[in-house]
Amino acid sequence: MGNGYTIRCRKCSYEYQAMLGFGMLFPTVYEDTVKAIREGKLGEEYKKFFEEHKDAAINCEACAAVCTGCGKFDTVKDYGLYLPKKETGDVNFGCVTAEELNEGYKQVMKYGHKCSACGGDLKVIDLFDELAKHALKCPECGGEMYLTEDLLMWD
Ligand SMILES: [Zn+2]
Ligand SMILES: [Zn+2]
Repeated sequence: MGNGYTIRCRKCSYEYQAMLGFGMLFPTVYEDTVKAIREGKLGEEYKKFFEEHKDAAINCEACAAVCTGCGKFDTVKDYGLYLPKKETGDVNFGCVTAEELNEGYKQVMKYGHKCSACGGDLKVIDLFDELAKHALKCPECGGEMYLTEDLLMWD
């Protein structure tokens, strides 16, 4: 189950709700993502990579991101590409969990996410790191964003 966090601006009460982590439908999400890659929906580079590396894996965790252009918040699938630390060449059936990625895999490619509002580059962030550094700014007024008490579960 994933968690939804609400961040709010101290000045203008602008809010953003970030749904992070993995839902209960994770295996389905993973399967659909691999299918989308094979169909070239995540770009030729990804498609080719998955064809050449049968043991490749993808990170489907939902992450918070911020646009480097307009400053808006977004939630994206990480979509980092991974290979096993010891390449087996075996076909990867089923889904690879975040734990498995952490333990047995290394990241080889990052996905270039684009902002849906302005087309600028999105930067995937660690929401809690950024909050701890007081680094999150409101896209509307530049005020500091803080984490509210509202916690939401999503599946
Ligand atoms: Zn604001
Ligand atoms: Zn933008």
